[in-house]
Formats: sequence, structure tokens, C-alpha cells
Amino acid sequence: MRAILIPRHGGPDVLQYSEISDPKPGVGEVLVRVRACALNHLDVWVRRGLNGVTFPLPLVPGSDIAGEVAGTGDLTKSVSTGDKVVLSPGVSCGQCAACAAGKDNECRKYTLFGYGRNGGCAEYVVAPEVNVLPMLPGLSFEEAAAVPLVFVTAWHMLLARARLQPGEEVLILGAGSGVGSAAVQIAKLTGARVIATAGSRAKLDKARELGADEVIDHTKQKISEEVRRLTGKRGVDVVFEHVGTATWEQSILSLATGGRLVTCGATPGAAPQLYQRYLIARQL
Ligand SMILES: [Zn+2]
Repeated sequence: MRAILIPRHGGPDVLQYSEISDPKPGVGEVLVRVRACALNHLDVWVRRGLNGVTFPLPLVPGSDIAGEVAGTGDLTKSVSTGDKVVLSPGVSCGQCAACAAGKDNECRKYTLFGYGRNGGCAEYVVAPEVNVLPMLPGLSFEEAAAVPLVFVTAWHMLLARARLQPGEEVLILGAGSGVGSAAVQIAKLTGARVIATAGSRAKLDKARELGADEVIDHTKQKISEEVRRLTGKRGVDVVFEHVGTATWEQSILSLATGGRLVTCGATPGAAPQLYQRYLIARQL
């Protein structure tokens, strides 16, 4: 099959468009013909390499995959050849205490397609059956492939970790990004009052279209001041952070007493201050 390979870490020039042998589904695995694979910033980090992480090179990148079932290994039972499917991006062992407790993201073997095993920038990919989900009718392959990683991340942050409740107020940073636009929709679905930030008129309009009740243009307005104004000086219950050092202070200052901050992003090479005084005084 044809595939994009990362043979070694580096710039875009290291990517190789290659012929490699077709993957074969093992016991409990499914062969998927890839019809669309979305890209994330994660793909750039994998290509460049990350301190302290050993990647199984050469590696096929791409975590967000939609396609059709092209074959099944022994002991699979939920899918048939030709099914339109989307792959849940996180792969875990399925056997350890964390997996048994439903916390597969805490599995010590947890990884992603295009990270610890071959991903979707190829004609075919092999996936554990448990990762193979039916594609929502009416979506194109491209639309379906845009969903998995950002939605699983935003869902886990807002609902599993921050435990966002109906009626609470939430600040979503960077609503124009993939994970931010997913978070706006999930927060709205939860019944929260959604305050979203973005850096252009078009992105702010899109955030409103997706469900934001209030928007803040971070290029023209100070986020924490706007949040205080919009919440009657109270601050928000939850901050959805994924930028890092550049926004960290504003995120902390936007929290109400007892507020929760969840984050999935960090500008590489810089550590944000903890603002310990606020953490303690406001019981964040
Ligand atoms: Zn496990």
C-alpha cells in the first residue's frame, strides 16, 4: 500500500511517500481502508520528536481516521466488510485495572494511532475492534475524520475531569481551534453558559453559531476583565485551557472561587507560573 512515513524526526522534508506492505488484521482486529485522515498539531510534534518519548519509527502518522471495513481478523463480531466506520483514536491494553475500570486513558500502554502505532496517512490501517465505531449517517468521510481526537479530548476534559454541570459558566479558550470548537459544542450540550474567546470576527461568529453565549476577542479585549464583566465579577466555574503560557495567567484570573481549570496544551519549552496565592486563596 501507499503510505506517508516518518523514518526519522525532523522538518517536513523527512516525510516519505512510500510503498509498504499491507497490514494484516490479527485476532480481534479490523482492517480499515482509509478514506479520510484529519491532521492535528500532534502530527507535527510526532514528526519533530518529543523529549523523553521514543516513537516506533518508521511510523505512519495520523490519529483521526474514517473509512470502510476491508477485512476482519478472527474473533471479531461487530463489524462487516464495507461498513463505514470512524476510529476512536486511543488504543489501550483492555486488560489492566485501569482499562477494567473504564479509565483506558490511564492504561500504562495507552497510545494513539499515529503515535505509538501506525496511523491513518496510508491506504489501510489495522485497529482493535473496540476502536471501530459506526460512522454517523449523513457525514462525509472528511467530516467524520475531523471529529475523533478533538472531541474525545474536549469531552474528557469538560465532563470526566472538570465535571461541568448544567447552569455553570465555562470559559473556552481558542474557540476557533479544533479542540476549542468541540468544547463549545459539548459545553452547550451540557447546559452550561459558554463564554468563548477567539482572535478574529469570523472565528467569533463561528463560535456563536456553534453555541457560545458570549464571545471575547482576545486580540482587542483582556480575557479576565471581560469574564469578570460577563459574570457579574464572579468569574467562571470552569476554564477550558489548551494554549499554555500565553494565556495561563488570564485563565487563572478568570476563575470563580472554587473554580476548576482543565488543560490539554502547553507551549513547548516554557512552564507557566502556578499563581499559588490564587490557588490557595480562591480554592481553585
Ligand atoms: Zn490497560
